[in-house]
Amino acid sequence: MDKLKSLDSSKIEAKWQGEWERKKLFSPDLKADKKPYYNLMMFPYPSAEGLHVGNMYAFTGADVYGRYIRMTGYDVFEPIGLDGFGIHSENYAIKAKKHPATLAKITQQRFYKQLHATGNAYDWTKALETYDPDYYKWTQWLFVQMFKAGLSYRAKAAVNWCPSCKTVLADEQVIAARCERCGHEVVTKKLEQWFFRLASGVRPGGKPYPEALLDNLEGMNWSEKVKIAQRNWIGKSEGMEIRFKIEGSGAFIPVFTTRPDTLHGATFLVLSPDSEWVEKFTTQKNKFAISDYIKDFHKSRFSEKKSKTKTGLFTGSYAVNPKTGKRIPIWIADYVVAGYGSGAIMGVPAHDERDREFAVKFKIPVVEMLPEEALWVEIEEQGWGERRTNYHLRDWLISRQRYWGPPIPMIYCQNCAGEGKGERKDMPGWYSVPESDLPVLLPHVEDYRPRGTGVSPLATKADFFKAKCPGCGREARRETDVSDTFLDSVWYYLRYPSVGEGKQAWDPALTKKWLPVDMYIGGAEHAVLHLFYSRFVAMALKDMGLLDFEEPFSRFYAHGLLIKEGAKMSKSKGNIVVPDSYIVKYGADTFRTYLMFLGPFDAGGDFRDTGIAGMRRFIDRVWSLVSGYSDVVLTEKQDSREVIFKMHQTIKKVTADLESLRYNTAISAIMEFVNLLRDKTEGKIKRAGKVRCAEWDEAIRTLVLLLAPFTPHLAEEAWVNILGEKFSVHNAAWPGFREEFTLEEEISVIVQVNGRLRGQLRLSPKDSLDKEKIEQLASSDTKVSGWIHKGKVKKVIFVPGKLINFVVT
Ligand SMILES: [Zn+2]
Ligand SMILES: [Zn+2]
Repeated sequence: MDKLKSLDSSKIEAKWQGEWERKKLFSPDLKADKKPYYNLMMFPYPSAEGLHVGNMYAFTGADVYGRYIRMTGYDVFEPIGLDGFGIHSENYAIKAKKHPATLAKITQQRFYKQLHATGNAYDWTKALETYDPDYYKWTQWLFVQMFKAGLSYRAKAAVNWCPSCKTVLADEQVIAARCERCGHEVVTKKLEQWFFRLASGVRPGGKPYPEALLDNLEGMNWSEKVKIAQRNWIGKSEGMEIRFKIEGSGAFIPVFTTRPDTLHGATFLVLSPDSEWVEKFTTQKNKFAISDYIKDFHKSRFSEKKSKTKTGLFTGSYAVNPKTGKRIPIWIADYVVAGYGSGAIMGVPAHDERDREFAVKFKIPVVEMLPEEALWVEIEEQGWGERRTNYHLRDWLISRQRYWGPPIPMIYCQNCAGEGKGERKDMPGWYSVPESDLPVLLPHVEDYRPRGTGVSPLATKADFFKAKCPGCGREARRETDVSDTFLDSVWYYLRYPSVGEGKQAWDPALTKKWLPVDMYIGGAEHAVLHLFYSRFVAMALKDMGLLDFEEPFSRFYAHGLLIKEGAKMSKSKGNIVVPDSYIVKYGADTFRTYLMFLGPFDAGGDFRDTGIAGMRRFIDRVWSLVSGYSDVVLTEKQDSREVIFKMHQTIKKVTADLESLRYNTAISAIMEFVNLLRDKTEGKIKRAGKVRCAEWDEAIRTLVLLLAPFTPHLAEEAWVNILGEKFSVHNAAWPGFREEFTLEEEISVIVQVNGRLRGQLRLSPKDSLDKEKIEQLASSDTKVSGWIHKGKVKKVIFVPGKLINFVVT
């Protein structure tokens, strides 16, 4: 082989990226295209560090898939944008001492430039950013629809509060007692908040949303680990709600249990410190002690140093066990979680280990007993309680007391509230902002930092919060909280095809045509937040008649996480690796292929850069092979046969691997093919040759096609400027294979005489099955014939494709 010809990557990559964009190669005609395929990668939320190799790993994997699908004949829509609203971006701005709006522009520019350099097939005409008023106008509109449908409400609730970020956090944003964003310890506060009825919402047919979301998971083509995570998060349990009468008060406490068959063993009740019942049933005598206990509980709630010993306190009140008729004490203890049922449990020490520990410690009677199955029916018949399904899932906390987000588009009127008027009967005084007044623009606030007072910095701007009541026209007050960043990303996939559409959030015809998303690729770490919220909102929109599907992502594929030295790449850990210098040094084609070759795409791995130079040499070998292809003529028939066989085998393998996103094995199959082709060029180069070799030409053409999803620039350059084919390789048809060529080219058939090895035949797969032919060939083989002719052939044993044995006497 000649000295390697090096590809001038930086030149050809910039050239083709420009050409693709100018010719709008990756901008499908969304209205006219006939075979729509929506290939979506998970919404990035870059802060100023921009794109790191972990992102690039994910995006490249999604792009390889999209490019492959395009070549199989689909009109692929592969949009990109960014989610730049939210605490993550705002905290970064605080650190950088820049206004988030200023920083957003810098980040956007840098991030998009980096994305361009990766060579992904994005439709840049449909890019969107969540902080663009053209976008968040519709995020606010979405909030209004949820309000109108009764799926949002405002309530005082004990919430997770990060003293450092000075905002509330959703339960899922608290990791090991600490704030997911900043790592600070989280405490509990009681605040008025907006919620979406993720857990408490009921569909028009009467089915609760958690139930419907659970049921749908069954048939979905999603990564199994994500489905499992969602099932666990919903946390469905079947049981009964039993009413325990409070002694001397006529009131009842409803208790949810999955084991009503142990009711006769219940010797006490325990309330969660957050439970609304605590205040009602604590006797005067115990008030101070209980209130101290609750304070301690809130302080230590998320502490990792939480003591292992059970704590609890008697409220002074008693309930009556409906089965035994006995009075049982009501305690409060931190081992009962608020939000589980009513925040009250029955203590059955004979049956439950935690209850037993608690009872022993606080000297509460333990009644030994066995479960009684018949109790389920008895409880129903006696009217002590009803069957009930409980979910671990809680309503979605939507409001944030921060600056950098879409203002929640609601107005509160004191006057209307006083008269019991409002847009919704159950929320007097509250009105949604009329659609004609959207967007509620986020005003510029110079000191945007959170105050820690439980209200947003927007509450300092009178010209912002003073509003006219949509009901009575008097002066009212605008909501000053902004919405959770997860609301921005819950519907972005609906907006992409309709970017530029000013009159509605999404165009119904385009939406019908392109949605639901055909393939969604993203990280499994978003299994219960983004993916679950998106499913819920889509279902709610379907129920409002605004969508005609309820599951937004037909297929979800969870890629693995690319980490660095064992940890997820993040600015705070200081282990961010950016792709820029690798792309400059080795080219995007090399770096893409390198990332996809690191391991199985769903496994991720630890990023190291030791093999990049080797991958670059592979790219150069390919380039040498392709750019000098017309000099090669295969003169031996056998060489042509081998090349064609290998080609069809490689197409088959790469096609199957791309279908299932097994990129590393697809690349190694291509490498094997390249090695064979290089072997065949040894001494076969005819400088002056005018003769063409059809098999060779086809093999090179196929190689370029197979590489196109991985090395899009090299493939385009080779396709157009070397093979002289029509622009673009990315619109060319994916190569097909012929099954008969994919079988092993030659098969060895063993020849035995009386069970002893006497020879071997190399045969085509077809011939290896032909007994007569093999018998004839074997007997005429001089190494074998002598042995046969020494005696008489009594029997011939033939195993097709494997061996022939002459039994000779
Ligand atoms: Zn924080
Ligand atoms: Zn009013």
